[in-house]
Amino acid sequence: MSLESVLEGLDPEQRAVAEAVRGPVCVLAGAGTGKTRAITHRIAYAVRTGVVAPQRVLAVTFTTRAAGELRGRLRALGAPGVQARTFHAAALRQLTYFWPRVVGGEPPKILESKIRVVADAAREIGVSLGGGELRDVAGEIEWAKVTQHRPEDYAAAAARAARRPSVEIADVARTYAMYEELRRQRNLLDFEGMLELTAAVLTEHREVANQVRDQYRYFVVDEFQDVNPLQKMLLDVWVGDRDDLCVVGDPNQTIYSFTGASAAHLLNFTADHPGAKVVRLVRDYRSTPQVVGLANGLLGRAPASGHALELVAQRPDGPAPVFNEYDDEIAEADDTARRVRKLVDEGVPAREIAILFRTNAQSQMYESALAAANVPYVLRGAERFFERPEVREAVVRLRGAARAGADAETDGTGLIRTVRHVLSGAGFSDRPPEGAGAARARWESLAALAQLAEDMAADDPGAGLPEFVAELEERAAAQHAPPLEGVTLASLHAAKGLEWDAVFLVGLAEGTVPIIYAKTPAQVEEERRLLYVGITRARVHLHLSWALARSPGGAQARRPSRFLDGLTGKTTTHTPARLDRSAKRRPAKGPQPCRVCGRPLTAAVERKLGRCEDCPAELNEELLAALKDWRAEVSAEQRIPAYVVFTDATLQAIAEHR
Ligand code: ATP
Ligand code: MG
Repeated sequence: MSLESVLEGLDPEQRAVAEAVRGPVCVLAGAGTGKTRAITHRIAYAVRTGVVAPQRVLAVTFTTRAAGELRGRLRALGAPGVQARTFHAAALRQLTYFWPRVVGGEPPKILESKIRVVADAAREIGVSLGGGELRDVAGEIEWAKVTQHRPEDYAAAAARAARRPSVEIADVARTYAMYEELRRQRNLLDFEGMLELTAAVLTEHREVANQVRDQYRYFVVDEFQDVNPLQKMLLDVWVGDRDDLCVVGDPNQTIYSFTGASAAHLLNFTADHPGAKVVRLVRDYRSTPQVVGLANGLLGRAPASGHALELVAQRPDGPAPVFNEYDDEIAEADDTARRVRKLVDEGVPAREIAILFRTNAQSQMYESALAAANVPYVLRGAERFFERPEVREAVVRLRGAARAGADAETDGTGLIRTVRHVLSGAGFSDRPPEGAGAARARWESLAALAQLAEDMAADDPGAGLPEFVAELEERAAAQHAPPLEGVTLASLHAAKGLEWDAVFLVGLAEGTVPIIYAKTPAQVEEERRLLYVGITRARVHLHLSWALARSPGGAQARRPSRFLDGLTGKTTTHTPARLDRSAKRRPAKGPQPCRVCGRPLTAAVERKLGRCEDCPAELNEELLAALKDWRAEVSAEQRIPAYVVFTDATLQAIAEHR
């Protein structure tokens, strides 16, 4: 790829970003205007012009998936080898590297979730907390650590920030202090601690700081509107007194304020970095004028729409957004699945369709509706792909085959044939099994691995099985799942930065969007921004829906989201026929959830057991707690970094019950 072609396909403003290879740059622009594209090309341009060596670049993004995509795009632009990571992954990597030299002793274990330690801390000081309160206190501790408040400062800070936890502020503060104590005693490091400790090591050890600063000289941060004070502090330490920092963001997409993130860092960038080049982008390349119009309308109705970043659509006209009102949530899920099926039948690839919801509890309903409509689906963009049992098994088999020198020919076709042969031992065949159940999901995973082998053979005809296995291992470490065929089911938070041809925003009823616990005006506005993020994920087809009752026959007491007031245009109200779920018929009064995995229990025998028949009965308390924490945590935020290590048993339970 020629150097000039790195700049091709950029508009003049984006080009200005790419060509400003040095010095502080800030891109302030709305959704779909090509911010991520501009920084990707900027890095490639800087690398290709020799301004910076690829290994000196640190690109920070918010999810492992985004980091993986960035690396892929850079490779395609002729700039491989750039470090693209989440804050946590980058910090942990440095910490692991310097640990023996500057800290020494047993490295701490990463605390996957605070809940258990919070529970122990509360017990220790005699505060009794229920499940929801535990979550709330854990959230408060996270907020306090992210905003850099110690336990003794928490009460005053919480009052200033108008935090309203469900537990007495004084009790939160005491639990927080004991939590830190227990954490130290047990040699555990939580996610905030990871960033704090990295910054502390760099601040206290000059030679370490010098080494890190020598390694990284060129910094780019995507989604800067959601940077929190702790991340900002670490970034400042990394950058030091140099100024090769480029940040991009959209203040209207700030969706993590509840954890302490703030668009202020983005908006104050020029004050912090005098002389920074500021670029604004307004052309929206992602969505049709109809989708863009709705997004602009939503922001225009915000009480203080301070950030005038109105989008100007570049794409040709498309269909008008569709608004649908349903009697109950099951009807909504069934009809959504049917509409998805129709799009797929009309030729829209399933991977180009997403169903997005506010809370993960909504996911189950859509999973079973899609299964009944025979549509394959992928949860949250297939995180933990490499932890799926069938993928683990396949990788073990491939590794074994590579060691045995299974592919004597390595002319491309040899690789494909060998990989297919090995995968067939794990149950892969040329044709997918009927239906959309577990067998189909398993087949999809193996097919994705087979496709990866084909891609690799096309890119590099000389590659053999050992190279393929090395690629898989690298991807596994980065949690970079291959593209999977299937409709994406994801939370609005997890959808940030991504795009699909067709997007279904479901459950847009009051109490869900805005979520019931959003009480202050600031919290409600964050919910509006979340809806804005959802709308702007759609390229062409956008469906928005809500249900008047939660379950069939329930009181129809729900109202459409207040954010849709004046925007809904033509709304279709229907009571559609139910999907045939003969195999998995639901109980009439809303399904009882499995006590292990939370899935709705459909069969009588399962309701009697209180769990799915295939859910382990002997799951001990600890495992159960870990599983629940995992479900709750990943649901809202999708921020669990790649290196989090679960016990095998937890992984097994998670893989089987997702
Ligand atoms: P978000 O705020 O949602 O993260 P973004 O500003 O990062 O959005 P991108 O994801 O970079 O936007 O771009 C949105 C879409 O528009 C992508 O499909 C991208 O390839 C396309 N795009 C961006 N710039 C251009 C351009 N100049 N010409 C054509 N397509 C473009
Ligand atoms: Mg982006």
